[in-house]
Order: sequence, then structure tokens, then C-alpha cells
Amino acid sequence: MNRLNILIAIAVLAISLPVIAQDKPRRIAIIKADDVRGITPKWDRFFNLSKEKGVKVSAGIICNSLQKDKKGYFNWLNKLKASGSVEFWNHGWDHKRWTTGEKKVSEFGGSGYEHQKKHFDDSQKLMKKVLGVATVAFGTPYNAVDADTVKVMNQDANMRLFFSYRVQKLKGAVIAPMSLRGESDGTGKPNFKKFKAQYIKKNNISFTAIQFHPNAFSDKYFDEYSKILDFLIGEGWTFMLPAEYVAMEDQRKKG
Ligand SMILES: [Zn+2]
Repeated sequence: MNRLNILIAIAVLAISLPVIAQDKPRRIAIIKADDVRGITPKWDRFFNLSKEKGVKVSAGIICNSLQKDKKGYFNWLNKLKASGSVEFWNHGWDHKRWTTGEKKVSEFGGSGYEHQKKHFDDSQKLMKKVLGVATVAFGTPYNAVDADTVKVMNQDANMRLFFSYRVQKLKGAVIAPMSLRGESDGTGKPNFKKFKAQYIKKNNISFTAIQFHPNAFSDKYFDEYSKILDFLIGEGWTFMLPAEYVAMEDQRKKG
């Protein structure tokens, strides 16, 4: 390239950049992968497969796994985070559910404010300690939610995105609903044919989180996951990380 060509190239780039920046992707998906507790070959396979396809993914950590000094695990998490194609979110402390009398209770469903506050805050604290930055997204075990969950989230200024459905009185956080079902045949069992069928039925969706449990995938289900990604890529979907989505929404609100 001679000097003139370089100048022209810079000029063209300068003119087109603001246009690109304002051009909101038409359809956005956040891949929501649940239940990180440690390094496993399946998690590596999932992260590698997604990256090979250029698909960014978010993964929820069960935060009691971040206790003690697990150097290998923490390095693994930080390396994935530093790749820019993975973001970790708060998936609660212990993922437990139990019954009190007749009542079914889970970590963030009917367990009470004190319980939820401690589990949420302890998780946020350990994630920040291990990953160096405040976690902006939250998804509860079993996608449970009650008024205490909302209260606890509203008390954390860093919390900006909640993987959930209809939630009222949530301040400052966007809701990322699982409008398209990733695992049509049950936990850890994606089914491309069924995914495509519901996709065609719900043809007006422009934003969705898609939930998977990759650490429960068998070979067959890795294949189904792969087909779902290929399909969405072909359909022109953009895959975003929670923090990117929040930043885009903030920008949009500013006008
Ligand atoms: Zn879970």
C-alpha cells in the first residue's frame, strides 16, 4: 500500500466506524451454560467447540467451589475469562434444594431473605476475589426466584443482568429470558430438531438466553449443541456475553 492508499483507508474507516458502532445486531443470543464446579474434559470440550465456531458463551459458577486455594481451577477460569470469549456469572453458592414439611424450598426459592442474602453476597465476594472483577450476571439454581431474590439483587449495585422470566421490581438489571429452550429432551440433552421446530414457531424472538448443561453432555449431545450453534450462525444471530449486552443496553438508553 502506498501512502495515499493508506490515507484513503484510514478515512474510509473513520467514516464507517460510527455507523458500525450504532448498528444494533438484529437478533442476540446469550449462551447460558450452568453448573461450573471445577475443571472437567467436558467443560474444556464445550469451551473449545464454542470458540472454534466464534461463539461467545457465559457460564454459571456454583460458588462454593471457589473456596480454598485451588490454583489450577482458578488459573483455568482466569485464562478462559482472558480469552474474551467466556464470561462467568453467579449461579449461587451450593445449588441445594430441600423440603420443609410439605413445602419445596431451594437456595433462592422460599429459603428466606437471610439465607439468600448470605449465599448471594458470599458468591459475589468469592467471584470477585478469584476473577478480579465484580460479576454482573446472576442465574439461580432451578431458575427459582421470589421477592427476597429480587431484594438481594437490588442491593448489589454491580448486578446488571438476571437470567429469568417474569420478574417484578427489579431495579437496574436487565432480564435475559430463556425464550428459546436449548435442552428440549431434559437437562444436558439438547435436541436440534426440536430446537429448530420451536424456533420456527417463535419466529418473532430477537433476544434470548439459551440454557445448556455441558458438563452433562454425552458425545451425542455435543453434536446436537454444535448443530444448534451452526443453525443460529446461519440465521445471522449475534452471540453476546452478559456484560456486553448490558453495555449495549446502557448505550441505547443514553440515546
Ligand atoms: Zn444449575
